Amino acid sequence: MNPEMPIKKIYFECMRCNACCGGQPGYVWLSKKDLMALSEYFGLSIQEFALAFCRMVDIGIEITLSLKEKQNYDCIFLENYGCSVYPVRPVQCKTYPFWETILENEQSWIEEAKYCPGIGKGPLISSNTILDAFLERRQNTPLSIDEITALRALENKWDNQ
Ligand code: SF4
Repeated sequence: MNPEMPIKKIYFECMRCNACCGGQPGYVWLSKKDLMALSEYFGLSIQEFALAFCRMVDIGIEITLSLKEKQNYDCIFLENYGCSVYPVRPVQCKTYPFWETILENEQSWIEEAKYCPGIGKGPLISSNTILDAFLERRQNTPLSIDEITALRALENKWDNQ
């Protein structure tokens, strides 16, 4: 796979505002690698971790896993000082805002800047950094129904939210 760079000059620097980590409803989709890394970080089995920190979401064509949110819609792992699982944060978080959907064209990048004050600030980001982020997301797609079949045994214990 050889994705193209859609926009020539991308400037970005994270302002640590945490706006992308909460404040409004959203989803943090988990790949198999994300689930394994987070479970290991907490010293839990994958099932224990999923039951404690994840919710199953029906996205129409599939059922997959997202991290739970707090009542105020913050990510369950967002604390006052920032992300409490930063070393093993999911690929979706790690690669933001270098997503193919956001960098599809100039307009989508400018539109995202309404939510992320780091867009357009800071250093010029290399095309390699961006292409690496695209590839990492492609290689870490959200868990498929087959991959969560074992977890579905937990379904009636789950807070389906
Ligand atoms: S919204 Fe942008 S600037 Fe704020 S924490 Fe997220 S990536 Fe950083």
